[in-house]
Amino acid sequence: AAKGKTPFKDILRTEVDQLTDISETARNEFTHIIDKQPMAYNDVTAIFRSVEKKTPGNGGLFSIFVSDLCKGCGECVQVCGDHDALRMEQETPELNAELTTAQVFSRLLPDTNQKFLGLYNDDTPEASREAALRNHLMVRRNYEALVSGDGACAGCGEKSVLRAVASTTEAYMRPIYHKKAARLREKATELEKDGVAKLEALKGRNEDEYNWYRRGVAHVVMGLGGEDNEDTTARLESHGDIS
Ligand code: SF4
Repeated sequence: AAKGKTPFKDILRTEVDQLTDISETARNEFTHIIDKQPMAYNDVTAIFRSVEKKTPGNGGLFSIFVSDLCKGCGECVQVCGDHDALRMEQETPELNAELTTAQVFSRLLPDTNQKFLGLYNDDTPEASREAALRNHLMVRRNYEALVSGDGACAGCGEKSVLRAVASTTEAYMRPIYHKKAARLREKATELEKDGVAKLEALKGRNEDEYNWYRRGVAHVVMGLGGEDNEDTTARLESHGDIS
């Protein structure tokens, strides 16, 4: 439930402190990791407050992790503006170590649940509400779609543009290909189940048609076609029965 402005790490610490069956070392390690995680809940209306209002106990945590491949262009800080969730900092070994800890930890977390994506539907992005399309970046496979651009100069914003293109392409195209693959698998199963009976029915109905069909499959699908009819016949004969 909502606990006002208490930082999440403090809520968690109170809860973990009440556990009696974990060692002091494990408790300390865990709370130290959590201390380094930038986690918000109360000010993230769509993820926590409105979800909690509808179904108490169902709200989520929101976290932004800066990539270790950040080019320092400052664009995200500018866009974040008065929210003040992001600030430019001088790069130091300590800062890099903290960023790496946060990033490695973020990879242990599950992907964003559809219930936090609002009117963006990750299975059918084309049916999403336009204003919610930006939420596609909350899905790991989308924001990790760009695997290049690390050679861009420091301070260059071109990577953000490339990421937008790659993540949108991933978000739109992958579900389409998954649906196509599922349809092909379904057809293959159907073929395995009914194919032989259908071929026999065709043979019984019209032997000529059956032979042309067989020859067509050998020629086009199995790559046994020749330069002309005569050549194809010779190749088929030397290949033997097709199966
Ligand atoms: S590259 Fe630019 S937009 Fe991306 S995280 Fe770094 S400062 Fe922000």
